[in-house]
Amino acid sequence: MTTEQTETGSWQHGVVVRGARQNNLKDVALDLPRDAIVVFTGVSGSGKSSLAFGTLFAESQRRYLESVAPYARRLIDQAGVPDVDAVEGLPPAVALQQQRGGGGARSDVATMTTLSSLVRMLYSRAGWYPQGQPMLYAEDFSANTVQGACPECHGIGRVYEVTERSMVPDPSLTIRERAVASWPVAWAGQNQRDILVSLGYDVDTPWKDLPRQDRDWILYTEDRPTVGVYRGLSPNETRRAQKDGVPATYQGTFVGARRYVLDTFANAKSPSTKKRVSQYLTSEPCPACHGRKIKAEALSVTFEGLDIAEFSHLPLARLAEIARSVTAEDWRPSEAEHLPDHVLDAESRAASTAARVAEGGASHDAAPDVRRTPNLSMEKRAAAQRLAADLAARLQPMSDLGLGYLSLDRTTPTLSGGERQRLRLATQLSSQLFGVVYVLDEPSAGLHPRDLDALIRILHGLKERGNSVFVVEHSLAVIHEADWLVDIGPEAGERGGRVLYSGSPDGLAEVSESATRRYLFAEHAVARAPRERRTPQGWLTLEGVTRNNLRGLDVSFPAGCLTAVTGISGSGKSSLVSQALPVLVRDRLGQRTGESTELTGDPESDLLAADDAADDVRGEVTSVPDGVRRVVVIDQKPIGRTPRSNVATYTGLFDHVRRLYAATDEAQRRGYRAGRFSFNVVGGRCPTCEGEGSVMVELLFLPSVYAPCPDCQGTRYKDSTLEVLWRDRSVADVLAMSVDEAHAFFEGEDSVHHSLAVLRDVGLGYLRLGQPATELSGGEAQRVKLASELQRASRGDTLYVLDEPTAGLHPADSDRLLSHLQGLADAGNTVIMAELDMRVVAQADHVVDLGPGAGVDGGQVVAAGTPHDVAAHPDSATAPYLRGEVG
Ligand code: ADP
Ligand code: ADP
Ligand code: ZN
Ligand code: ZN
Repeated sequence: MTTEQTETGSWQHGVVVRGARQNNLKDVALDLPRDAIVVFTGVSGSGKSSLAFGTLFAESQRRYLESVAPYARRLIDQAGVPDVDAVEGLPPAVALQQQRGGGGARSDVATMTTLSSLVRMLYSRAGWYPQGQPMLYAEDFSANTVQGACPECHGIGRVYEVTERSMVPDPSLTIRERAVASWPVAWAGQNQRDILVSLGYDVDTPWKDLPRQDRDWILYTEDRPTVGVYRGLSPNETRRAQKDGVPATYQGTFVGARRYVLDTFANAKSPSTKKRVSQYLTSEPCPACHGRKIKAEALSVTFEGLDIAEFSHLPLARLAEIARSVTAEDWRPSEAEHLPDHVLDAESRAASTAARVAEGGASHDAAPDVRRTPNLSMEKRAAAQRLAADLAARLQPMSDLGLGYLSLDRTTPTLSGGERQRLRLATQLSSQLFGVVYVLDEPSAGLHPRDLDALIRILHGLKERGNSVFVVEHSLAVIHEADWLVDIGPEAGERGGRVLYSGSPDGLAEVSESATRRYLFAEHAVARAPRERRTPQGWLTLEGVTRNNLRGLDVSFPAGCLTAVTGISGSGKSSLVSQALPVLVRDRLGQRTGESTELTGDPESDLLAADDAADDVRGEVTSVPDGVRRVVVIDQKPIGRTPRSNVATYTGLFDHVRRLYAATDEAQRRGYRAGRFSFNVVGGRCPTCEGEGSVMVELLFLPSVYAPCPDCQGTRYKDSTLEVLWRDRSVADVLAMSVDEAHAFFEGEDSVHHSLAVLRDVGLGYLRLGQPATELSGGEAQRVKLASELQRASRGDTLYVLDEPTAGLHPADSDRLLSHLQGLADAGNTVIMAELDMRVVAQADHVVDLGPGAGVDGGQVVAAGTPHDVAAHPDSATAPYLRGEVG
């Protein structure tokens, strides 16, 4: 600690915030130091993000947008105008958030970190070219440019096709019997059939007996003929009507079955439609490039014996080693070692000629073009060493942040939020920006305690370069490093939003209202009653688990107990816990895997995600105890992607509410049934906004905005629906209530009351029932899922699987979550979670520690047993940190 940190006066240039009211903030006034590490703490929902991102970052972005041309504003994803009276002294802000997904299938670690251009330059300027092959430009090595992409698959690496087999799974059916399974369902499919009747095709002969020519036309035609359709007429009657010139019922346009699948997949808005047609698409590695995405000429160029696709597939830590070896004084291209002497001689002769030419020609061409020089020239060697030195320097912070196991070609949709944020953080280090404020969202997420020091060094590095660093964090190790601490609370939502403390960290010890104080200062800690370890009710045993870096892993978990799976980042925790375990156990139990793939809306990434999910998880469950009959995954994925989904609908409690309204005398008199009170179906909802409560307003030159619906004023319902009252409140009034308010309001209505009690119990009493799912944080979504599970009568026969459930949670929230998980295990259920918070791990019955390293160096069980056993293990990277918690 330096003296500056204890002395407010030494922080000179302040950021001044007055009247901040974004979301739940209570007219916040705050002065923050610049050029310092400022950490924002508080329980989940207290308002940390509303202050750091919703107010400070949003205000910085708004000012930036005001300074650019109006048309550019449209292109930038605007964070919105914050509700704040004044913000002064704010430097330009760079936000590094944890958004998952997005980026698209063509975005990967290389493009995200901008290392792609450096690597392409390396291959273009310093690569080893086959004899006689002209040199290539950097762009020729990119799958994302027309010059570089494999002409066969256009740089995707896979080819997608729709085949007769995929579209017509059962050729013994007739067209009338829906032989073409890929056709749209219901009316639209029938329409295609009726058009074929008008076109004279036979719809009553089994598909396999139709002439090849007809089958090909129906499936593959690119023509879109329009004909008159006679609804309800048989094929014979249709032909007669056509001959007699009877006017058709309507005009229909035929679309080839293949064209329909491809277009629907590319354009459908609805994820379920997309998903339906995606099952008729087949994909396989591109036969031309074998999945390497770029053209053959570019793949023929090597660097240290690797083509650019192979290079991009190596772990970053290995690339750093190669790059460092190239910078050595006596380095020679490894390709040169295998060349026969006469070729080497020729190369060297050419090289020295080129050097002379370059020298002599210096007056015409100040910088000799190394792309024209032979493989062994001095210029080329110099270029290789300079570019390799750059590469090594750029890779260092990525390895430091525990990301050395990632490869350049790893696609962004498969990265976790924490991996993404740390990659962006490492990338920022080479941008050499100064005088900005970095706003970060829990950068420690997913990071093993072993790697926290490196993170902290990097945050200090940003500060020392003359930047301000604002961090929302829950890791006590990071909080301890703060120059300045802002604690928000005391609770969540309405009961939060106040600044409880702003100053140097030690001062928080005086603030009794703060939930953070109990965890930061040992003397204020709440003593925890020691727990008895549970006795395993049998063992769930898996053998030969193979997925990502898990290669034939054998592992067992105690049933009826709480197990924590630990290991450094990249050791294989997610691969085991969230990817392999649920699939294998469900398979064994005969439970359907269900909707495991979430669609992003981007056709390419969706296909890749589907491929990935179908990708072989291999292994065998060799023993399932009686106590495991069902698998439930409780993750932080959003509970819905539309504002139509909310807490009330997701937990099912809204069904009960609607029934209460339908049972009132007024509803009975008017003949309103329960469906009338739904905003998701036509009937009682507002027709203008179709029950969304808001309408999109398109503004010229500006991003579209959502405004409250002018007809229902945001209530989502028709006036007539709102006239039906239960205990003097309308159904819209109920949706506007917080869980706490509703809990009081529904006193005596057992099923509704019970659901609400559980939601309060997991700390969500502050959420509004109608709060759209899209506004919930990952942690909130996870607790809504947990509550939905808890409200079911506990059957004690379920395997609950959680991946880093405490990510994004304040220690106080983690404790509460943990006590619910303990409750599930007490009731006989089995709980298995990947977890990195050693406070939480110490409370488990059993620990499985993966490692020893990350990526190919991981994927094995290093230690397994009680937290005490693992803490004592000599080879476990987790042991030293767990020791501090098991006492
Ligand atoms: P924290 O970052 O401390 O977890 P947030 O700032 O995300 O808390 O949330 C503070 C409160 O504001 C919570 O009650 C949350 O539900 C609410 N909230 C967050 N985002 C929105 C939003 N976009 N619209 C309305 N309310 C929101
Ligand atoms: P952890 O959860 O312990 O951080 P992961 O299971 O995420 O580790 O990663 C283990 C290894 O598997 C790493 O080498 C990682 O790069 C790789 N991996 C994880 N998920 C994927 C994926 N979806 N596609 C390809 N590789 C993956
Ligand atoms: Zn290809
Ligand atoms: Zn409306």
